[in-house]
Amino acid sequence: MHMRINGAEVPSAGAGWKDVKNPATGETIDRVPDGTPEDVKNAVESAESAFPKWSGKTGRERGLLLFHAAAQVRDRHKELGRLLTIEQGKPLREAIDEVRGFCNVLEFYAGLSSQPAGEAIHLGSQGDCMVFHEPLGVCGAIIPWNMPVIIMGWKVAPALLAGNTIVMKPSSTAPLTALSISAILEEAGLPPGVLNIVTGSGGSAGEAIVTHPSVQKVSFTGSCATGCRVRELAGSRNKEVILELGGSDAMIVMNDADIRKAVDGAIRGRFYNAGQTCTAVKRLFVHRDSAESFISLLKVRVESLKVGNGLDPKVDMGPVNNRQQYDTLSEIMRSVKENREGTILTGGSPLKGDGYNNGYFFEPTLVRDVAEGSALLTGEIFGPVLPLMVIPDLDAAIREANRSPYGLGASIWTNDLATVKRVYHEVHAGIIWVNRHLTVPPEIPFGGTKESGIGRENGYRALQEYSRTKTLFLGW
Ligand code: NAD
Repeated sequence: MHMRINGAEVPSAGAGWKDVKNPATGETIDRVPDGTPEDVKNAVESAESAFPKWSGKTGRERGLLLFHAAAQVRDRHKELGRLLTIEQGKPLREAIDEVRGFCNVLEFYAGLSSQPAGEAIHLGSQGDCMVFHEPLGVCGAIIPWNMPVIIMGWKVAPALLAGNTIVMKPSSTAPLTALSISAILEEAGLPPGVLNIVTGSGGSAGEAIVTHPSVQKVSFTGSCATGCRVRELAGSRNKEVILELGGSDAMIVMNDADIRKAVDGAIRGRFYNAGQTCTAVKRLFVHRDSAESFISLLKVRVESLKVGNGLDPKVDMGPVNNRQQYDTLSEIMRSVKENREGTILTGGSPLKGDGYNNGYFFEPTLVRDVAEGSALLTGEIFGPVLPLMVIPDLDAAIREANRSPYGLGASIWTNDLATVKRVYHEVHAGIIWVNRHLTVPPEIPFGGTKESGIGRENGYRALQEYSRTKTLFLGW
């Protein structure tokens, strides 16, 4: 596939290509151009030319277009879901959900298009003021490989509705569905140049987007290390950023929790998308009174997960997305075994042999009583490995939950309101779920504290992230 600039497929100004592999088989399924700073320059110019007309439309006109585009993507959700599974690895069911989730995001923002924006301020004898919300101009969007479609929606939908034009870079290991969707948006009537997609590496195309003087704001989702680099580059140019970075979400199960419901929550919270979700359950704390019954039920459920090619409808969990993830995970588990960093209750190794071919499959893994200082607790484990600790009381749970540089999400499983109140007030995170984990519908603001990021996506407030106020003072 080629990049999409100014409403058309274009090759790169450079000669390079990047192979896209199916993580379930290791086979190359397509290739995309290795975009250069020259490609980014062309994309930004195209976005700049499209801006006056796009920003000149009424909010309702842009909203109608988003509604129409959502319907066209929805019509093709099966074919897009299949493409997403082939390039990303997740089970088809999850891939189709993600495509539908993208449509939900478009529809949510389209629905906000008729909301009144701006304010009028009466200043007595001094006069009157009107405050307008203006789009920023050309915005940059940089996307990771784990949820490439929904994250595209989180960035593109509010930015477009607010009247901005966009240059977006998907990840090199999962760019195909995003490219197909952008072509569908254009078929649905999105004018050429409003959304441009440049493929390629972060160091070249990604940094060129962040540093281009005409790009007003960059919304980045990815790892903390890359987020810091993006912040540095943008900050030295006085450019605003939204950073949605890593997480190490705690799930706390108290002794009054509904154990079956909590086990379901832990399974979905950790093993959905093979554990490669920013808000996955990455550290599980269980109250000692219910620990043994919870753990034995959880172990049975983890062992029953069927791992395989996501196109097989019986599969619960696909491979991890790429070689680097697979190697990192294998290395972490090798260290856990060698240094006795915890008791492995099940799993712990890559899956090889029959049926797994050259895919990046890893066993669903449960490790209990993890030692202090283990990478399972201090880092962000982006794969199907669930570390579990038994805690004596709520004080210990809150203390442990906060012992992480991250602050994306956390969940508390209880029926006691006083417990909820304490966790809500004392655990540092952008979202606290009660008897639930992972769910992020477009209606709610989403983003982290501490090293998990800056700014918020989703909800009506995201429109403000993509606009600036301008005041008209009428002195009369
Ligand atoms: P990554 O940081 O390696 O890459 C993310 C994107 O940034 C890719 O498109 C990459 O090409 C680009 N990039 C790399 N170097 C760059 C640079 N120097 N300048 C500009 N762009 C650059 O992350 P990943 O491995 O693709 O994704 C996994 C990470 O994303 C995890 O840490 C996960 O927690 C995080 N994530 C966060 C959220 C959230 O909303 N908080 C959501 C999903 C994923």
